[in-house]
Amino acid sequence: MSVKEFLESGKDYDYSKLEKELEKLERFNFFISRARAGTGGGILKGLPVSIKDNICVKGVQTTAGSRILEGYVPPFDSTVSLRIKESGGIIIGKTSQDEFGFGTFSTNCAYGVPKNPWDPERSCGGSSGGAAGLTAALNMPHIAIGQSTGGSISCPASFCGVVGLTPTYGLVSRYGLIDYGNSLDKIGPIGRSVFDVALMLEIIAGRDNRDQTCIGEKEDYTGYIGKDFKGKVGVPKEYFENVDEGVEKVVWDSIKKLEGEGVEYEEVSLPLTDAALYSYYIIATAEASTNLAKFCGMRYGLHEELRGNFNEYFSRVRGKGFGEEAKRRIILGTYGRMAGYRDQYYMKALKVRTKVIQEFRNVFKRVDLIVAPTMPMIAPRFDEIKKLKPLEVYQMDRLTVPPNLAGLPHLSINSGFSKGMPVGLHIIGDHFQEGPIISLASMYESLRGDVKYPEV
Ligand code: GLN
Repeated sequence: MSVKEFLESGKDYDYSKLEKELEKLERFNFFISRARAGTGGGILKGLPVSIKDNICVKGVQTTAGSRILEGYVPPFDSTVSLRIKESGGIIIGKTSQDEFGFGTFSTNCAYGVPKNPWDPERSCGGSSGGAAGLTAALNMPHIAIGQSTGGSISCPASFCGVVGLTPTYGLVSRYGLIDYGNSLDKIGPIGRSVFDVALMLEIIAGRDNRDQTCIGEKEDYTGYIGKDFKGKVGVPKEYFENVDEGVEKVVWDSIKKLEGEGVEYEEVSLPLTDAALYSYYIIATAEASTNLAKFCGMRYGLHEELRGNFNEYFSRVRGKGFGEEAKRRIILGTYGRMAGYRDQYYMKALKVRTKVIQEFRNVFKRVDLIVAPTMPMIAPRFDEIKKLKPLEVYQMDRLTVPPNLAGLPHLSINSGFSKGMPVGLHIIGDHFQEGPIISLASMYESLRGDVKYPEV
């Protein structure tokens, strides 16, 4: 049963069946903690909603995937979780992620690595890996809330064959989000269908006085479903460089399918694609390193007996509490904004970001939306990931980082399969163009037909 069918059925949600299903899924490590919060009713009628672990839910342990926040129970709700509860959603738990969002494969997770339901030897993608994996594995109506800084909704959506929608920067309130990079973070939904993510966006989007950066006026996003997309799409040639052959073929088949329905396409060029990746990793680590300064063993989560001077105490707690990738990013980010290097790295990266935004703007003068592969490959196996150097992992974000850096809305939808694993089709729009993205995605979804999810 789909979310839409459940909402239209007027029936109560079968929570005892859900519990049994979730028990079966335990071995996949989709959750960091389980919970039950909310009273049901409303337009969501008691629909289960999972929340990525870096979004605060009142009374439920929230760790952002890090040991340093183990045992932290927020005394307040994030705006997103509050809006979900007020709409009758029931929060069912906090999903696994890379520590603070630092990763592409959800392998930098302190509480167990989520496994891909299509092949448990493979990654769910990251950093919202638990959210996407659960969405693909759970054969009952459910919507997940994910979060993206540089691709953390699209990448796992692509690897798990579900729909992930990253809204325009500022459209969804981040009050109660444990920040990774404040100029980049966005909260967005992951679901099995375009309807699910459009509906959830309607619930969580829109102005919030508690987040000064939240500027968006929301729209009736579900109203765009079934409305044929009448416009032109651009296919960036740089987004097909170093892409696996199987992925390339599947994505082109989808573009041709759309063309068959009258969606015209033209080749466009985004030469700053690689520069965007470098700029992102400088800005994101710079912001992350300042954001993590507050985890010092005094206010939140992990703390110990006070011994030695403060610096010794902080180093000891932080040394234990942060994983390897978090430490690497603190060092990288601190270096990039240090006196003497700031102009060369951080300031330059900001200028590159402006150029990347301008480059997208120019392309959007010619085409309405951009379509491309979401990730250059299918979900890798864990033994392949182990062999990768950190820089090689960063490079795998080459296609998801540019729209995130520019704050543009984007959606990943299953485009087909390569070697039995899902491949994502990425649809990117100009700022606040969620509506046309949803029309094109839903048009593609009906051409493609339903995805047959694995029985796990
Ligand atoms: N893989 C990217 C990073 O590690 C993006 C992760 C994210 O969006 N949180 O920074």
